[in-house]
Order: sequence, then structure tokens, then C-alpha cells
Amino acid sequence: MSLFRPAIDRLTGYVPGRQPTTGTRVVKLNTNENPYPPSPRALAALQTFEADELRRYPQPLADEFRTAAADTLAIDPSWILPGNGSDDLLTMLVRALTGPGRAVVYPTPTYVLYRTLAGIQDAPILEVPFNDRFDLPTDALASAGGALTFVANPNSPSGTVVEADTLATLADALDGLLVIDEAYVAFATHDAVQLVQQRQNVVVLRTLSKSHGLAGLRLGFAVAHPNVIAGLVKVKDSYNVDAVASRVGAAAIRDTSYTKTVIDRIITNRTKLAAALECLGCQVWPSQANFLFVRPPRGDAARVYRELETAGVLVRYFDDPQLRETLRISVGTDDDHVTLLRALNTIL
Ligand code: PMP
Repeated sequence: MSLFRPAIDRLTGYVPGRQPTTGTRVVKLNTNENPYPPSPRALAALQTFEADELRRYPQPLADEFRTAAADTLAIDPSWILPGNGSDDLLTMLVRALTGPGRAVVYPTPTYVLYRTLAGIQDAPILEVPFNDRFDLPTDALASAGGALTFVANPNSPSGTVVEADTLATLADALDGLLVIDEAYVAFATHDAVQLVQQRQNVVVLRTLSKSHGLAGLRLGFAVAHPNVIAGLVKVKDSYNVDAVASRVGAAAIRDTSYTKTVIDRIITNRTKLAAALECLGCQVWPSQANFLFVRPPRGDAARVYRELETAGVLVRYFDDPQLRETLRISVGTDDDHVTLLRALNTIL
């Protein structure tokens, strides 16, 4: 007999992309990290800690970071909730809003963690497939009647975006909460923060993992109406963001000029990489994220993935019926791309 709840026994745990041990020489293009270092101001903030600040508990709402994030969006801090990565905020949302009889709805393929979190909560899961162009299936999502509907925008693994108008239409058609997961929005042409200010049933999630090169720090935040924030605060861990993350993250998010330089460079690299992959006969979807969704010429993605790994290049392959023929490749540095393209040239 199992010691676990039936929902946990049924669950397939989330499998993160591989993290090689520090010092291993690989070209790592599998988890959409930023290939450039965080802001020098963030690194300087790291040096400022006194023993007492680590001895004491941190501020429960990570005030230093909360204020900095609010300032960059020109919004009141009461509209911001920091989290231990945006994954932490996803957990709070699923915990607070869903359960048996209260469904989680999202278009697929998308971020696999939505399914895992809903499974943990024993909530019904309604998955609506995207078409080949990744247009949002607005009507089907709306009629699914979720207590919580997720749209990653830009979506992962496709890198594609839907327009703010489409998201507004969806929000208006829903009785439940719409979460727009903007983990990759820094690399896109538009965001949806305005929708949050216009509609109480919309939450936007951001992370410093990709745009600010701080995936190791674990820091993200939700933007939502203060009433929604108040509900989420009830279910969060008491000290979900540590003192280091709050101060370092505040310095990073305030350094908007450094962030812009890095993001512009990644967008330039993305354009060059897409063109080079197309030259090799790959199909590449239009991306507004820091990765590309790529179908190798014969659709034999599993083989290409394995042979790239042997050549010391990690990309992401998802063993999922909708994704068997495709790979997700993070945008790296010029040097990363030289190694990747040389290896692909041989493999293909
Ligand atoms: N949302 C999406 C769509 C993602 O791809 C990721 C990264 N795995 C996250 C959220 C979580 O990012 P983090 O917890 O590092 O903020």
C-alpha cells in the first residue's frame, strides 16, 4: 500500500533540463538560461551582505525587490508579489485556486510544469491543442471553464506569441483567472501588464531567470490586483524569497540599460541562428523568445538530440507525442553557435 495520496502516485514528476556539474565543458542550450553574466551592479550587491542580515529572517514580502520591480513598471508595490522563481508563483496560484472540481486549462504544447502542479493539487486538467501556427484556441479555452487558465506568452517550446487583444478577449470570456506567463517577454515586442490594470481576473508572471541572467538566484514576481495578491499571500511559504535574492534582484532589475544591451544582443543572435539553421534545411518557427523551436530536415529530433549530446552540445528534446519531431534550442553566444552549427552540419 502506498504512503502517498493517489494523486501523487499517479503523477509523473516534472523533469528539468539537464544541469551538468560546474566545470563540465558543454555548450548548454537546453534550459534557456541567459548566455551572458548578470549586471555588474547585481554582483556588487552580492558583496554588501553583513553577517546579521543572513542571521535574521528576510522581509516576508521581499520589500527591497518588490519596490524595485514596481518602480520599473511604474506601478504601486501592492500590485507585486515576489517569488522563489516564477515556478513558486505558479505553485501558489494552483494551490490557491484549483482542486477537485476546479480545473486547470491551457493550450498545448506548453510549459510542462502546469500539468504537474495541477496533478499535485488533484485538479481536473483540460489541455487544448494549438494548431500548427500556434494561434491561441480562444473559444475552446474559454468554454473549458477553468478556475485557472494558463497562457505562456511567448509560449515555450514554440517561441510564438499571441496578441494582447486576443488575451483581452480570452480574459473577458473567462469566469476564472487568466495567468499570462511572461517568462520570455523581455525578448518579445509587447507585453500584457496593461491588461492586469484593466481586469481583476488577469495575472502576469515575470522572472529574472532569462532576461537578467539570474536563473541560479531563483527570483520571479507576479503582477496582479492587490485583492489577488492578498489571496496568494495566504498560501505562500512564510519567507519564500531570501535576503540575498531580494537585494541582488533589486540591483539587477534597476539596471535597465545593462539589461537592454544583453537582450538586444540575444535578439541579434537569435536572428542569425535562425537563418543558419534554415540554411541547414531545418524548419524554424518565428520566435520572440530566447530560444528557437526547430524541426530537423527529416524530423528525427531524438537522433539529432542524442548525437548533439555526444558532440558536447545540450539542446532540449521533449518525449511528447506533439513534440517528437522538434527540438528547442536556446540562443547562446556566437561561439556556442559555431560549435552547434558545426556539429549539426555533420549530424544532418
Ligand atoms: N514559465 C515558463 C514558460 C518557463 O519556461 C519557465 C522556465 N522553466 C518558468 C516559467 C520558470 O522560470 P523560473 O522559475 O526560473 O522563474
